[in-house]
Amino acid sequence: MKSNEVILTISHLSKKFGENEVLKDISTSVTKGEVVVIIGPSGSGKSTFLRCINYLEVPTSGEINFEGQVLNPKSKEKVLDLYRTKIGMVFQSFNLFPHLTVLENITLAPLEALGVTKSEALARAHELLKNVGLLEKINAYPRDLSGGQQQRVAIARALAMKPDIMLFDEATSALDPELVGEVLKVMKDLAHTGMTMIIVTHEMDFAREVSDRVIFMDKGLIVEQGTPQEVFNSPKEKRTIDFIRRL
Ligand code: ADP
Ligand code: MG
Repeated sequence: MKSNEVILTISHLSKKFGENEVLKDISTSVTKGEVVVIIGPSGSGKSTFLRCINYLEVPTSGEINFEGQVLNPKSKEKVLDLYRTKIGMVFQSFNLFPHLTVLENITLAPLEALGVTKSEALARAHELLKNVGLLEKINAYPRDLSGGQQQRVAIARALAMKPDIMLFDEATSALDPELVGEVLKVMKDLAHTGMTMIIVTHEMDFAREVSDRVIFMDKGLIVEQGTPQEVFNSPKEKRTIDFIRRL
C-alpha cells in the first residue's frame, strides 16, 4: 500500500561513538505506507540507525525531515519530544512495565502525553487488543503472558500513541521459535492497514512477503537496496551476495 508521498527523508546521517563511526553518511527516504526491511550482519549499525531515526540516539550530523518537520542535532528537546510521539518503536526485549496491567501499559502514554480522556484511552486499548488478539488479557500482568503475547501488547502499546510510522528492531529475536509466527502475523496485519514501517529482522521469508523494499547495511553503510526480489534473488554487490548466501 505504498504511495508516492514521501513522509520521511534522512539526509547524510552520521553517528560516531567516540572515534567509532557507526553510521556513515546515510541518506534515504520512505513513502507513506511503505514497508522497509533492513538486513545486515550484527554490528552493521541497524539498531543505531533506528535509534537515530527516532532520536533515542542523537546523530552526530545529518538531518531528518519527517512530514515537513526538520530535525537535526541542534533541535530543541521540546521539538524532539513531540516528534518522538509520532514514531512508534518496538524492541527485541518487550519492555512492558511489569507493575502495570496490560490495559495500564497501553493507556499510560496516551493519557500522559496525548492528554486523551480515560474513556477514549480505554476504547482505543480495547480496539488495539482486539486487533492483536489479546482482549481477554486486558487485566493480566506482563508476567502472566508468554513472550509472544508480551510482544503483541508492546505493539499495541506503541500503536496507542497513533504513530505515523512504526520501527521494529528484531521484534521476534528473543522469542521461542513457536511464538515468532503470532508476532509476525500482527506485523503483517499492520502492514496491510497501510502503516509505514521500518523493520530490522532476520526473518527473511517474512521480509520477502511483506516488504516493499529491502535495505542491506554493512559497516554503517547502505550497501544495496531494492525490491525483495532484487536483493534476495539477484544481489549486485559482493557483500550482499556473501550475506545472502550465508542465510
Ligand atoms: P546492529 O544492530 O546492526 O547489530 P548496532 O547499531 O547495535 O548494530 O551497533 C553498531 C556498532 O555501534 C557496534 O560496533 C556497536 O558496538 C556500536 N555501538 C552501538 N551502540 C553503542 C553505544 N551506545 N556506545 C558505543 N558503541 C555503540
Ligand atoms: Mg541490532
